[in-house]
Amino acid sequence: MIVESGVPLSRFTTIGTGGPARAFARPETLEELEQALVWAAEHELPAATIGLGSNLLVADEGFDGLVLKLGGELAEAKVDGNRLLAGGGAANAVCLHRVRAAGLGGFEFACAIPGTVGGGVWMNAGAYGSDWAAILDRALVVDGRGARWSSPEELGLTYRHSELRHGQVVARAEFSLTPLPEDQIKANVARLQALRKAAQPTNKRTFGSVFKNPEHQLSAGRMLEACGLKGHRIGGAQISPRHANFIENADGARSADALGLMQEGRRRALEAFGVELCHEVEFLGPLDLRPLG
Ligand SMILES: Cc1cc2nc3c(=O)[nH]c(=O)nc-3n(C[C@H](O)[C@H](O)[C@H](O)COP(=O)(O)OP(=O)(O)OC[C@H]3O[C@@H](n4cnc5c(N)ncnc54)[C@H](O)[C@@H]3O)c2cc1C
Repeated sequence: MIVESGVPLSRFTTIGTGGPARAFARPETLEELEQALVWAAEHELPAATIGLGSNLLVADEGFDGLVLKLGGELAEAKVDGNRLLAGGGAANAVCLHRVRAAGLGGFEFACAIPGTVGGGVWMNAGAYGSDWAAILDRALVVDGRGARWSSPEELGLTYRHSELRHGQVVARAEFSLTPLPEDQIKANVARLQALRKAAQPTNKRTFGSVFKNPEHQLSAGRMLEACGLKGHRIGGAQISPRHANFIENADGARSADALGLMQEGRRRALEAFGVELCHEVEFLGPLDLRPLG
């Protein structure tokens, strides 16, 4: 396994921002993954995994550690009976393709989530009333101490949250699905994709929802819209004119620009609604939001 240095992480994030990784490796087997984690420990470097970078804001300074991008058998997906068996690096789109061809339903909601199986476990990804927790049987989590299968309860999956920490890698996951005719699956996917297209910026570089929805009658997007933030711009980043809970890379954005917009959004939501918005997007590297108030 080759460890590269200085790989720009902007290449691997959907918003297209982020500085370099001090070290970068692409393990393709469980053995290579374990070797990579041992290498990081020997070099006293933190390790983090990147999926499709669709929920990730990486600091402009980069990440002073080892970034892992799962490939080979750790990114494959296959069907066995009513189960989907996938590597942590398998793209949701590939998984959906496999289960549709096998006539298994229950994964259609993921058609709107442009990430990987491991990224989905990390934040219990979900849409349209379903989420990873609803279909996941177990996930194989590897860290410096070895590999262990964990149930959704052991992973602590709740709304857009798990108890996983950097250095713990979802290498594999197994899901239980339900037989459904292929035509029905196609129809469900077409319906969900049309809903998505009508409501969100689908042809812009974003990292998905910026903030989690608060316990409030208004969603985060509606709150930010009411604060007049649609189209608000800092540097090369702007709050989507289409949906205020999205930040677009409008023109050569830096992560600091996106962070500035997040800070402004949090400040205004607190002022107008007394609500402290919590970020859904994950941070990697030296990035933090200023405390409010
Ligand atoms: C247009 C758009 C629409 C979106 N819509 C939705 C939606 O409807 N619902 C939703 O939930 N999300 C949505 N997202 C966000 C994102 O797609 C999901 O959160 C997705 O699950 C992230 O997966 P990823 O592989 O891209 O993870 P990344 O963004 O690469 O990483 C996210 C976090 O997961 C960790 N991680 C990734 N892979 C692993 C692994 N194998 N093991 C351990 N940790 C790992 C990373 O370290 C990081 O902390 C959307 C994003 C975009 C751009």
